[in-house]
Amino acid sequence: MKILVASFQCESNSKAKLHPSRSDFEYFKGDDIFKKLVVKEIFEREGFEVVPSVYAVALPSATVELQTYNYYAEQILDDVRANPDVAGVYIFFHGSMEVEEIGSGELYLLKKIREIVSKDCLISISLDAHANITDELPVYADIISGFKTVPHVDQKECQERAANALCHCLKKGIKPQAYMCRVPFLLKNDTLQTAYEPLKSLIEETVALEEREDVFTANLFLGHCWIDAPNTSASTVVCAVDKTQAEEIAKDLANKLWATRRDYKFLCEAELPEECVKRALEGKEKRIFITDSGDNTTAGAEGDTLGLLELLVNAKPAKKTCVAGITHQEIVDGFWTATDGEEVSLPLFGGVKATVKSHGEILGWTKEIIGRSLTVSIGNVDAIFTELRSAFIEKGNFDKANVDLLSYEIVVVKLGYLFTELKPYADRELFALSDGASCVELARLNLKRIIRPMFPLEDFEWQA
Ligand SMILES: [Zn+2]
Repeated sequence: MKILVASFQCESNSKAKLHPSRSDFEYFKGDDIFKKLVVKEIFEREGFEVVPSVYAVALPSATVELQTYNYYAEQILDDVRANPDVAGVYIFFHGSMEVEEIGSGELYLLKKIREIVSKDCLISISLDAHANITDELPVYADIISGFKTVPHVDQKECQERAANALCHCLKKGIKPQAYMCRVPFLLKNDTLQTAYEPLKSLIEETVALEEREDVFTANLFLGHCWIDAPNTSASTVVCAVDKTQAEEIAKDLANKLWATRRDYKFLCEAELPEECVKRALEGKEKRIFITDSGDNTTAGAEGDTLGLLELLVNAKPAKKTCVAGITHQEIVDGFWTATDGEEVSLPLFGGVKATVKSHGEILGWTKEIIGRSLTVSIGNVDAIFTELRSAFIEKGNFDKANVDLLSYEIVVVKLGYLFTELKPYADRELFALSDGASCVELARLNLKRIIRPMFPLEDFEWQA
């Protein structure tokens, strides 16, 4: 029996401007996809023949254009067409890929696959915990397995769970039953972390449920608030032997998740940008980080907003300050030939005098060099401009820009929470509730297509 394996992922952000291009996808074909996926050994150990298809994964970006989507989707479909007799299909998705003209990229691909394979073929998928589940997904996927950690560290276990369940059901001739229960809340992603209550206990409950012989997966999906679509919300999904049982458990989990809706808080100081700047200037700590959460490049935003830079420049801080990773191609292009130490006039805030500090490089997600950076000093404020969107997630990004992270007392990065790699350098962390494509304030996102009522936009009673 054959199992076809693929992965196709891009977390979409409706407010972001940059659609992912073909070259934004990390791409492997054939056996090379197992450089990235862990399921091959499981399927082979269980006696299945593995048919590798495509691995195409991009960083969070604006919605995917149909042409780009089809380029990869068609390759997967071609592989399915070449193997219409597959007993199973395993795909590692994100679950929040929004494609122009067709909506959910995951659902569309699954529907197309179902048109080709036999009716007995089982489809098993893995999803990010921030997947926005469509109503129809359980119709087209038999086994749905989501991450149990936020921040995500269990990608491997999530794949293994989906693969093991697929093998089990194929060998025993079981047609697993998936049930999804939508939970009408949409919370700030950065307040939802599985290491802390109340999510910690809820996740433990799903783990305990999965130990039951008749339950294959039990999942909490927290939703992803930066896509304006009807399927944008939290949900619970359970896959079990029996449909009624899956429904009962999914509804029970949904009620429990709903009951916690008021209990999610930021795990650090979260304030408007003006207040963050004030606290950073007055703070006694050695080094204070401010995260510009509305322009979080790891959440699909461009990294090009200047609000925090302007606040800091105007504040004329006595502290050495760095604003890291502002996407601004014109500045990098326009002043690249200026030498370090040269005085320049930047076309920002109606014209501002600056000194070129250093020329450097920027790193892509897989740590390859993707472009140039130019750092300029405006008084005590150093601004690192980059010619492409980048994410300053660790000290190595500052090193590549030829900037000494340790020399600063205030550091601004375009992230939500600080990445673990930066935490050792932060004596205090301020989460700036700034505007932008990754703004965390739901009311300010102005979502028009989501179902209503939706907590916290409305406060209401609800039961699954
Ligand atoms: Zn996620």
